[in-house]
Amino acid sequence: MTEMERCPICGEFDRKDTHTCKQTYLVWSEDDNVEDANGVRASSPEDAAEKFVRGEFDDFEYLGETIVFVTDYGGNQQKFSVTAEQTIVFSVSEVSDD
Ligand SMILES: [Zn+2]
Repeated sequence: MTEMERCPICGEFDRKDTHTCKQTYLVWSEDDNVEDANGVRASSPEDAAEKFVRGEFDDFEYLGETIVFVTDYGGNQQKFSVTAEQTIVFSVSEVSDD
C-alpha cells in the first residue's frame, strides 16, 4: 500500500513515493498591480488562473469574468479570462401527507 502524506513544501496531500511539487506561478488580476501578485502552485498556467480566482471568490457579486495575468518561472506572461457562474442544485426530500 502506498503511503499518502501531506507534502511539507507545497501542502498537497499525495502519494509519498511519486509526489513532485507543482510549480509556482505568479498570478494577479487586471485590477491589481504586479506588486500584489500571489504565488500559486498549479499544474499549468490555466490551473493557476482558476485557483487564483477561486481563492478570491468569497463574494457572490464576484460572479462573472475576471481577467488575470499569470507568469511562470521563466518569466513567460499569459493573460486569461476566468468566468464563474452559478449552477442550479436540485435536492429531494420526502413529504408526508399528514
Ligand atoms: Zn509538494
